Amino acid sequence: MKKHNFSAGPCILPEEVLQKASEAIINFNDDNLSLIEISHRSKPFVDVIENARSLVLELLGLENKGYKALFLQGGASAQFLMTAYNLLNNKAAYLNTGTWSSKAIKEAKLFGELIEVASSKDKNFNYIPKGYEIPTDVDYFHCTSNNTIYGTQMKSFPKASVPMICDMSSDIFSRQLDFSKFDLIYAGAQKNMGPAGTTLVVVKEDILGKVERTIPSMLNYQVFIDKDSMFNTPPVFAVYTSMLTLKWLKELGGIEFIEKVNEQKSALLYSEIDRNPLFKGIVVNEDRSHMNATFNLTDEKLKEKFDAMWKEADINGLNGHRSVGGYRASMYNALPLYSVQALVNVMQELERKA
Ligand code: PLP
Repeated sequence: MKKHNFSAGPCILPEEVLQKASEAIINFNDDNLSLIEISHRSKPFVDVIENARSLVLELLGLENKGYKALFLQGGASAQFLMTAYNLLNNKAAYLNTGTWSSKAIKEAKLFGELIEVASSKDKNFNYIPKGYEIPTDVDYFHCTSNNTIYGTQMKSFPKASVPMICDMSSDIFSRQLDFSKFDLIYAGAQKNMGPAGTTLVVVKEDILGKVERTIPSMLNYQVFIDKDSMFNTPPVFAVYTSMLTLKWLKELGGIEFIEKVNEQKSALLYSEIDRNPLFKGIVVNEDRSHMNATFNLTDEKLKEKFDAMWKEADINGLNGHRSVGGYRASMYNALPLYSVQALVNVMQELERKA
């Protein structure tokens, strides 16, 4: 049996997806050729990428609404600059909720004036700022829906009269949202979708073509749209595996279904964090993430004991990010509820033994 994998990524995938992906490495499509040996322009692979692109729009409820789904490379980090390259003429507004937003801000500053509408840096990013205004004279507003490192998640999104861009790397496909509120969504594949190596971009085509600068082809969304996401050789294994995960999700009942499972998982863990006197949460309650739960021991002297116990229980990846410390339990779509129960059991056992 697989370990209970609470790692923040990369990447947590359903066992059946891992099985099919590994088979395709040896023999794809019963053709006695590997998926990674065949031409990306061959019909079997073109079918894969087209299927993946249409599953994305279907799952997000964005079919026939002017959106295109692209599988790009360079990680979500490349999107920090690509969004600005394609969309920032003069000024843009950013919400700063942590490391990833700060990195996006740093890159975008290369292209124009940046307005930080609000920041939670004053409290080491343990909450989501609220009540800020988005200027009407900016080219777009950018936010990060889920803060993978600190464990905060935006539960609602501001109304903006300008295009909305969102980095959804660590919670895409995990909860129902009105995705049509966003004009551009990007996400590294490696949390809820597939192996590292591809980045999903979902863009409303009519926001493009408005900047004055010349955009190099490899950084130009329109070039990739015009070439059906195959301007250059796509990362075939990452795209294929993402397609399998998207299919798995659709067959389970889509985002509506997985959202309920994700809510059960996070409720189970947070209620134990709140009940058990040996633990305390790091993030303010209303902004707690359903994907990444961060917590500390109330008595650091128990660390050695607790660490040995969860490792003994076949749990993996519970250490917090180095900038936050403590523990982080990442509960992406593919993590089963029984894995969360296994962690809760260890927390309760610690309480009995302490
Ligand atoms: N944005 C968020 C919210 C992330 O969690 C991460 C990585 O964990 C990134 C961006 C950076 O992604 P990448 O490593 O694909 O560049």
